[in-house]
Amino acid sequence: MSELPDLPTLWTHEPHVELMFRPGDKVRDIDTDATPGFRGNKADAPTLQEERNVRFAELQEKLYANSRSGDTRSVLLVLQGMDTAGKGGIVKHVVGDANPQGIKYTSFGRPTPEELSHHYLWRIRKALPTPGHIGVFDRSHYEDVLIVRVHNLVPQDVWEPRYDEINAFERALVDGGTALVKVAMFVSLDEQKKRLSERLERPDKYWKYNPGDIDERLKWPLYQEAYQAMLDRTSTEYAPWHIVPCNRKWYSRLAITELLIEALKRLNMAWPPPDFDVEAEKKRLASA
Ligand code: AMP
Ligand code: MG
Repeated sequence: MSELPDLPTLWTHEPHVELMFRPGDKVRDIDTDATPGFRGNKADAPTLQEERNVRFAELQEKLYANSRSGDTRSVLLVLQGMDTAGKGGIVKHVVGDANPQGIKYTSFGRPTPEELSHHYLWRIRKALPTPGHIGVFDRSHYEDVLIVRVHNLVPQDVWEPRYDEINAFERALVDGGTALVKVAMFVSLDEQKKRLSERLERPDKYWKYNPGDIDERLKWPLYQEAYQAMLDRTSTEYAPWHIVPCNRKWYSRLAITELLIEALKRLNMAWPPPDFDVEAEKKRLASA
């Protein structure tokens, strides 16, 4: 049984198609205020988000249910973006609505000494979703061609081959039954400043602030170059990047929810059939 299309009519274009990175797209041209493919506005967002979170959670449960009867497929959501882009918000407000049993969440910060003693994909492999699960990466192996490149944490002849290596790694993941949803989240420098200053104004947000965020911010031109190279070199037919403008949180959340829903729908799942005789079990239960 395949899924009927159920994209809400406020979307004029499928986000999966609309937001997909295309060769020649430039990071510097991204309109971070835009709401591509969506003709609704902020006022439409809360109700729609709630509805779509329910849809997402239902599909996630289906994925999990199928794994109980031998389906080994999984989904991996990769969230990449500068500080304040809203990665945490996606985890909290979108993924957080699903059953935590089926979610494998990992955030990748500066590697520990142990992680540094291994290949950079070592910690990534350990965090991959098992069958039936949705893996969520808050930052990812792409840090190893982003911050690492910007700060020369290793020489160019070490980070340069990583693009191809990441492609091969992802190819193997996809061939193994993991659908990748790669999302590059972009905020403008102005919006980032607002969000960082809010973190400094509100005691309940201090924990999100890191003085180093300003140092990264000052390196935005270098990050822009690194993000461009990442998109140019690792957006593949089997694991394309999606570019999500994030100045409007309500939009980025709706868009990423649809990207997840679309990826799950492409798995064409039905509820697993019973491996017992339903009628016989009903009779047994009635007299038990
Ligand atoms: P946050 O996501 O705000 O907790 O910050 C995590 C920090 O860890 C960011 O500055 C990342 O760029 C940094 N980070 C993540 N992965 C790596 C890596 N492989 N090498 C160096 N720094 C990293
Ligand atoms: Mg941070």
